[in-house]
Amino acid sequence: MRAIVIGAGVAGLACAVELAGRGVAVEVLERGDRLGAGCCSWLAGGMLAPWCERESTEPLVATLGMESLPWWAANFPGTVLRGSLVVAHGRDAGELRQFAQRTERYQSLDGEHIAALEPDLAGRFSRALYFPEEGHLDPRAALEALAARLGALGVPIRFGADTQACREKTLAAQAAGGIVIDCRGLEARDALPDLRGVKGEMLVVRLPDVSLSRPVRVLHPRVPVYIVPRGDGHYMIGATMIESDQPTRITARSMLELLGAAYALHPAFGEAEIVEIGTGVRPAFPDNLPRVQRIGGTVYVNGLYRHGFLLAPALARQAAECVLAGENSPEVMHADSRQRRLA
Ligand SMILES: Cc1cc2nc3c(=O)[nH]c(=O)nc-3n(C[C@H](O)[C@H](O)[C@H](O)COP(=O)(O)OP(=O)(O)OC[C@H]3O[C@@H](n4cnc5c(N)ncnc54)[C@H](O)[C@@H]3O)c2cc1C
Repeated sequence: MRAIVIGAGVAGLACAVELAGRGVAVEVLERGDRLGAGCCSWLAGGMLAPWCERESTEPLVATLGMESLPWWAANFPGTVLRGSLVVAHGRDAGELRQFAQRTERYQSLDGEHIAALEPDLAGRFSRALYFPEEGHLDPRAALEALAARLGALGVPIRFGADTQACREKTLAAQAAGGIVIDCRGLEARDALPDLRGVKGEMLVVRLPDVSLSRPVRVLHPRVPVYIVPRGDGHYMIGATMIESDQPTRITARSMLELLGAAYALHPAFGEAEIVEIGTGVRPAFPDNLPRVQRIGGTVYVNGLYRHGFLLAPALARQAAECVLAGENSPEVMHADSRQRRLA
């Protein structure tokens, strides 16, 4: 069996790893000239937070997301499994209570336990929620590790593949009985017209004076922000959620809000060096749930929204099962949960 994967974001690379692991001859075609070029996955925070995400998503995201922690730990040694922390300032205590009501699998911490987990937050918060089963990773290092894994498995990643080259390879593969896995993210709107873009803005700062060892979410009624440690004194601060498919530059308001939240978490962030400012556009379906969908000789893996790293392992497994089951696979995987939701 031969498969062409289009797109070397987290969805495409995870699909290629899963297919190659099942003995399929895979080739990856990527439009960008290098890993991460023009790819939403390069901008991600890298939180693997199935239980925190329950706050604003369907149970399906947590169910699929639970597969990601062992998968990432097995495929990327940089996966950090230290849980995540959710805090709110005194005036936003109601936000923390609501977050607790909408999520599960957390421990409620007092100030002493917060300080034990994150000594640099000692004395700053009197309450927090701790999600011990969650994890995080550096998305760029993780993508590089998947690309290296593919190299070791003999799977080529062809960068700079233009639309014409993709079309020719796709038709040739399908004519020979092979299959195409379309992981083009937002660019797949030509085939999946209900895809939309949700812009996210982020910053990377360097602050060697503060040490945080797990992602911290700072709740706020208007601007919830998270801070993810990247190692070596670097932190990713993210992320806005703006209904837009334009990856335009960060606005002054977003910059103020992201930095304000970081400063409120710890005033030392006021001294941080700004290393990077980035914007990415998340591919999302109207219900914000992912979809693995077979249309003719193509399997589309898309709609990863704000959960690309969290969901890619489970979606890649489903896509691989779909490829190997051929005509016997359902046209839309996990359609049941979608229908239950609509009922
Ligand atoms: C600021 C921000 C923070 C985020 N934080 C998190 C987080 O903490 N945890 C998490 O799980 N998720 C997070 N996400 C979401 C995550 O980044 C996305 O869900 C994920 O990147 C989507 O991956 P993808 O592979 O579907 O798309 P992409 O990463 O966009 O990959 C698509 C690839 O297809 C290529 N392509 C497009 N058209 C063609 C073509 N015609 N031919 C060949 N190649 C083509 C593109 O160049 C690109 O490389 C975040 C997103 C943003 C923006």
